[in-house]
Amino acid sequence: MSTRAQGERPSLTAEVRSGTWRSWGGNVSAEPAVTVRPEDSDQVLQVLAEAAAAGLTVRPAGSGHSWSPVVPTEDVLLDTSALSGLVSVDTERQLVTVFAGTTLHELSRLLEEHGLAVANLPDSGHMTVAGAVATGMHGTGLGQPSMAEQVTAMSIATPSGELVSCSETHRPDLLRAARVHLGVLGVVVSVTLQCVSSFRLHCAEFREPLAGLVDGMQERMSGADHFEFSWMPGTSMAHTRILSRLHRLPQDYTRPASPISRALRRADDAVLRTSLTAGLGRVGSLLPRTVNGLNRLESMALSSRRYTDVSYRAFTTARPVRYVCSEYALPLESTADAFRELRDLVDRKGYDLSFPVTVRCSPPDRGLLSPAAGRYTGWIALRQYGRRPHEGFFRAAEEIFAAHGGRPHWGTVHTRTAADLAPQYPGWDEFLALRTELDPQGLLLNAHTRELLGV
Ligand SMILES: Cc1cc2nc3c(=O)[nH]c(=O)nc-3n(C[C@H](O)[C@H](O)[C@H](O)COP(=O)(O)OP(=O)(O)OC[C@H]3O[C@@H](n4cnc5c(N)ncnc54)[C@H](O)[C@@H]3O)c2cc1C
Repeated sequence: MSTRAQGERPSLTAEVRSGTWRSWGGNVSAEPAVTVRPEDSDQVLQVLAEAAAAGLTVRPAGSGHSWSPVVPTEDVLLDTSALSGLVSVDTERQLVTVFAGTTLHELSRLLEEHGLAVANLPDSGHMTVAGAVATGMHGTGLGQPSMAEQVTAMSIATPSGELVSCSETHRPDLLRAARVHLGVLGVVVSVTLQCVSSFRLHCAEFREPLAGLVDGMQERMSGADHFEFSWMPGTSMAHTRILSRLHRLPQDYTRPASPISRALRRADDAVLRTSLTAGLGRVGSLLPRTVNGLNRLESMALSSRRYTDVSYRAFTTARPVRYVCSEYALPLESTADAFRELRDLVDRKGYDLSFPVTVRCSPPDRGLLSPAAGRYTGWIALRQYGRRPHEGFFRAAEEIFAAHGGRPHWGTVHTRTAADLAPQYPGWDEFLALRTELDPQGLLLNAHTRELLGV
């Protein structure tokens, strides 16, 4: 749609200094002509109208925590960081409305003040609420909903100049589509979430032999509130993480955790589980053939431990080391077979991988384009240190995942396009029809989303 003449520089409402935009992983960047940082829905609508009049496209950006090029634009980058904070709290029904650019960390802290929490979270808290919802972000646990499933209403600024609301009773068709919206239906201004009473989690982490773990994967997933495991390529061991939801106890017992144990855990995270990974990643990038040997060393360093903490602190871990990630959502019953084939591939090809492969699970989602739409899902995430090559491994693994009916996580690296994706989503045509209704001119599309959706 962009009709901007070369070199011409439009001026828009809420414009801020523009520069190179980079994703957290560093693998995606953009040089937008204009960056805007609107502070309310009126300014968002104004920007959309001005961009349309100038023949420019607009891409909203959250925290840039996606590894796929869902954000980049050469036209208008809409920074959502000023659309932040609580809109309203209904403590009785545990319904909370927040501005779309609120990060999950901020959200959790705000909810804690009201005795509330989000039922399930990913392993990082830096992404924004709208960004997380856009790509179908998940945590782990077969009985616990993903972020998009917890959404009960949204308010969306559309290219036609309207602020459209949708909920389970008003425009439920739009809510179904907007649960995983890819940033192509409009600019999300606020999101209402069904929260739960605040809770604590007990976390138990163990080193276990990989073989038995993979054979009993479904049972282990069904037997825990939140279960995941990570396998270090080059080893036959895995690191399991089991989170159990604790009952609410009298005030004396519900201190989040003893400060000493939390301080020790943070030190352990920072020194053993993160700096060691970083250090080994750097050594590995100098001496590639040694990486799997280094993985054996790291795998030994990750010892068993147990601790209790408030839910959002236990769900998330610090991630000071940048990496690139590809993750696939597989039918739960195919996940163990896909993992075995992946392991054979790594052993056969001898890829040097400096980060573990992680396996998680989630229940079916209702979002039309949720990778977990309509089925219990096993997620397999591949990671590689940012400065090391990942393309060959990710591509070969993708063939395995695709053969098992896998759907890519929209925010991670993959090579699927509309032709591969459309047959995998029963709600595909319904989503495309709604997108056309809300944005007939394609104001919100970039090259990547055009390719993904075939428009
Ligand atoms: C360290 C790390 C850990 C991660 N852990 C997990 C995990 O445990 N589980 C998981 O599923 N994923 C995980 N991810 C992936 C991440 O959650 C998703 O890619 C998520 O979409 C990123 O959110 P964001 O706020 O950074 O959005 P961005 O990456 O900035 O944008 C994502 C999409 O949202 C759209 N968007 C953002 N704001 C708006 C808005 N207000 N209105 C309309 N569209 C909008 C953008 O246009 C884009 O299409 C992780 C990523 C990192 C870097």
